[in-house]
Amino acid sequence: MNPIDAFFKALPPISSAPLLEESGVSVWIKRLDQSHPQISGNKWYKLWHNLRAAKAQGAQKLLTFGGAYSNHIVATAKAAQLFGFASVGLIRGEEHLPLNPVLHYAQSCGMELHYMNRSAYRNKNAPEQLRQLHKRFGDFYLIPEGGSNASALEGCRQILTPDEWATFDAVCLPMGTGGTLAGLLLAAQQDQQVIGFSSLKGGGFLRAEVERLLTAHQKVYQREVQDLPTWHLETAYHFGGFAKQPPALKSFMTDFERQYSIPLDRVYTAKMAFGALDLLQKGFFERGQRVLLLHTGGLPRVLD
Ligand SMILES: *Cc1c(COP(=O)(O)O)cnc(C)c1O
Repeated sequence: MNPIDAFFKALPPISSAPLLEESGVSVWIKRLDQSHPQISGNKWYKLWHNLRAAKAQGAQKLLTFGGAYSNHIVATAKAAQLFGFASVGLIRGEEHLPLNPVLHYAQSCGMELHYMNRSAYRNKNAPEQLRQLHKRFGDFYLIPEGGSNASALEGCRQILTPDEWATFDAVCLPMGTGGTLAGLLLAAQQDQQVIGFSSLKGGGFLRAEVERLLTAHQKVYQREVQDLPTWHLETAYHFGGFAKQPPALKSFMTDFERQYSIPLDRVYTAKMAFGALDLLQKGFFERGQRVLLLHTGGLPRVLD
């Protein structure tokens, strides 16, 4: 077995566990945050087939993008170190010294950090920018922002086991770029509800983004994606925007951790859990349904 698949096999298995029962609906949680301390949660699934592809192409270097607090940057830096790639992280915005713990950790894994101003960052996928990057950094395997591409979907389709798909009527998960949801959809049954909670303000664009990722996946993997179940996009639980943490969200996180001993992160999983439990209160789910909350991680240990 290649070292990348072997690493995956050696991760602790995560099973879903019951969380609460209300109005005849049982809510479970699957804690991907417990899989690896730095390649946290969904990020491993998104990197997995990218790492395989990079090795297969003989790439020596990974290059990717992210914000200054990006879980994806941490995960990519660690994975590059584990599997013998050099890595370059292009960070949105200006350099701030001393480095924050996320960037400091990435650098300590050997990732070379460079900064892009916001307008260059917005245009990072333009062909001209890409040519410039190759001029500057030579050959590299490009992993897009958040890791979301066709290879990421291939990994994310394996986040839930066939047993879990057979058990749950609905799966709730947070969304950043939509790659994780798109991958999950590839494995969902027609009658299953997949509900994505946008962590960003104005998350309506995610519908088209998931469509785009599915189409890219279909081109690479030549599978039919027309017959996938429709999915539900919740855009109302962003709490003011991506990195915002108003008091209501903060106290929800504190209460949730106290009650269930499960830590949530403020960017993604707290908003999703809040939203899912709010939908439950509002009667969104039917009596007898089994609902799974996907804890996608977001709490990388970068201080030790
Ligand atoms: C990166 C991340 C997400 C977003 O996943 P997408 O595939 O970009 O939608 C969700 N939750 C956590 C904890 C993350 O770190």
